[in-house]
Amino acid sequence: MTSLLKQISCADDYDPESLGVARARQIILDLVEPVEGSERLFVRNALGRVLAEDVISTANVPGHDNSAMDGYAVRFADLALERDTTLSLAGTAFAGRAFEGRLEPGHCVRIMTGGVIPQGADTVVIQEVARADGERIVIPPQQRQGQHIRRAGEDLRAGEPAIRVGKQLRPAELGLLASLGVAEVSVKRRLRVAFFSTGDELCSLGMPLKAGEVYDSNRYTLYGMLTRLGCDAIDLGVVRDEPAALEAAFHRAAAQADVILTSGGVSVGEADFIRVLMEKLGEVAFWKIAMRPGRPMAFGRIGDGSEGAFLFGLPGNPVAVMVTFYQFVREALQKMMGISPVESLPLFRVPCVTALKKRPGRSEFQRGVLFCENGEWKVRATGSQGSGILSSMSEANCFIAVESERGNVAPGEAVDVQSFEGLV
Ligand code: AMP
Ligand code: MG
Repeated sequence: MTSLLKQISCADDYDPESLGVARARQIILDLVEPVEGSERLFVRNALGRVLAEDVISTANVPGHDNSAMDGYAVRFADLALERDTTLSLAGTAFAGRAFEGRLEPGHCVRIMTGGVIPQGADTVVIQEVARADGERIVIPPQQRQGQHIRRAGEDLRAGEPAIRVGKQLRPAELGLLASLGVAEVSVKRRLRVAFFSTGDELCSLGMPLKAGEVYDSNRYTLYGMLTRLGCDAIDLGVVRDEPAALEAAFHRAAAQADVILTSGGVSVGEADFIRVLMEKLGEVAFWKIAMRPGRPMAFGRIGDGSEGAFLFGLPGNPVAVMVTFYQFVREALQKMMGISPVESLPLFRVPCVTALKKRPGRSEFQRGVLFCENGEWKVRATGSQGSGILSSMSEANCFIAVESERGNVAPGEAVDVQSFEGLV
């Protein structure tokens, strides 16, 4: 860590007074590593967890060639090319109850979706085109050999990885594991993230608000974002702007967590002793990110060895906390959780119907509402864009990510958006 942060500080494009969003994200991602440790869980309890080892398919899925449609299993060689063919019905293959024996020339088997293809058959003719006349089934010409058959192993092949290490398990993976008969999986242990708020003006829920105080909302958004991500969120409360209290809080956090998130106290001049303290307790870089909101941010490590933890010193403003979390912290936590590959939030380009005020030279993450009008998706900005206006995040369903070099955006211009869906 020490040498790495030093190496970065020597790089040409490193300017802690004005660091680009992409560069800061890359520095952070390069420095964090996945945590050690795993546990075995029943499939249902593993939703949202990260696979600690490949799951190898022990069998083909499906296990047998089977029919994709309701119809008749036939021998393609029996069918005439230019005219109808009449076959004799030899029996039935249901899903879960196979036709016993071999399909002899001149015969067919009534087959249901999922029914095992009888030996000798190689083609399924759908019931809608066949005509049944008692035991005699008339098949029209122009069938295709092999049609309507799901092949053994076409979903998963025996001996090959069905799901790879690093995959965060979603509903599809729970089903996939079940389709293999796997009841238990090995997943990474949960990432432990401790967080606290700093500020003499902060009041905790349940206490009466005194003059000049504000309720601490950041611990609630952080709790929500961490929990959604699948981390163990450890709430260490509000810490006063006082060196001894802060030092004790950092020690407590580093002793029990992999990552520490703080909010507030990182802006220049505000309370410089927090900087001095972070530097004393570990190795921390203070950045002014070329972005809005979220300009001041600290990143580094507090303590060392097993008592050490990565630190993100987020700004205090409630919107800035959420923006910096999603732009920097989220991907770093995903890498530490063992997710591989870590993927950036997808961007979509849509027309923006409102004018946006924007100064070139910094990335902006404005709050937007994606909506559909006459079949076309568009975005509008929420009202006030102040970094203290948390209701803008609640009204929004996306970030409008305006590139650094861009200036004001006129109505109708295309902008990049990051949907909150699946994120918050
Ligand atoms: P700071 O970065 O500590 O200067 O805080 C910037 C602004 O965010 C100030 O207006 C603080 O009152 C506000 N703020 C800081 N922490 C919190 C918090 N936990 N909850 C709500 N507002 C906060
Ligand atoms: Mg403060």
